[in-house]
Amino acid sequence: MIKMEKVFDFVSSSGHYAADACVVWCYDDRFYKLLKGFGKKQGFVHIDLVKVAGGAKALAGGPSPERDFVLNQIATSLRLHGTKRVILMLHRDCGAYGGSKQFSDADKEEAHYVDQLKIAKDFVQKEVSVPVDAYLGDFDGLYVL
Ligand SMILES: [Zn+2]
Repeated sequence: MIKMEKVFDFVSSSGHYAADACVVWCYDDRFYKLLKGFGKKQGFVHIDLVKVAGGAKALAGGPSPERDFVLNQIATSLRLHGTKRVILMLHRDCGAYGGSKQFSDADKEEAHYVDQLKIAKDFVQKEVSVPVDAYLGDFDGLYVL
């Protein structure tokens, strides 16, 4: 029998849970506290977090292995945890889009993310039976599509 060495004591809940949301969020750590704060305000107890570079970016492109992967993560969340809604996120100055410097001004950057969020939301909404909401994270808060 393999006996691994315990390096950290911590008690995790072993019970099954229902997820309040499946959240597709960029792993940019500048926006992690935004998710925590928003989740608290929404009253989320459990979320299934799909934390990938670019957040919902993969869902806004055409067919790709990345899009299949993220969509499969969402579908698995719904199947395993009775997930009630899907939250898609993009954020300002996202490295996956080349950062804010790729845009001539802040309004053009926002407009690009709005277009991307619409595409991603429409795509996911066709694939799932729960509500899909799309958000833009900014350095002063969270904006809904
Ligand atoms: Zn990002």
